[in-house]
Amino acid sequence: MNNSLWLQGFLKNTKKPILEKKKVDICIIGGGITGISTAFALKDSNYDILLIDKGTIGFGATAYTTAKISYLQELPYSKIASMHGKEAAKKYYESQVEAFH
Ligand SMILES: Cc1cc2nc3c(=O)[nH]c(=O)nc-3n(C[C@H](O)[C@H](O)[C@H](O)COP(=O)(O)OP(=O)(O)OC[C@H]3O[C@@H](n4cnc5c(N)ncnc54)[C@H](O)[C@@H]3O)c2cc1C
Repeated sequence: MNNSLWLQGFLKNTKKPILEKKKVDICIIGGGITGISTAFALKDSNYDILLIDKGTIGFGATAYTTAKISYLQELPYSKIASMHGKEAAKKYYESQVEAFH
């Protein structure tokens, strides 16, 4: 049994694989939150967009997220600072704050 809340009752993608050649402006590879968000951000653009996944959309790491939003992640800032310096840790922090808002 799968314990992920997001996967409970989720219908597996039964779409047939795309076999024909397709020409698009933008091809997004990977249908996790990153790919889906990218597709969503581009949905009103004039680009012809294709989102593909080697498995089932939403079944990667995204399927297991606890969906909390935080500046603090598993990778501690002190580790970034020790590996790349305080300035790099600060930039990483600022990127997280920007993404948060
Ligand atoms: C237990 C757990 C808890 C978490 N909790 C949180 C949280 O609380 N807050 C938070 O912000 N983050 C959390 N995360 C992290 C978060 O879930 C991931 O950072 C995020 O889901 C990654 O999304 P993604 O789209 O980059 O990758 P994925 O969701 O893994 O999607 C990548 C997709 O690309 C596809 N793919 C890969 N290679 C190819 C290929 N060659 N061709 C076609 N398709 C391909 C895969 O099939 C997959 O569907 C958690 C992660 C886990 C495992």
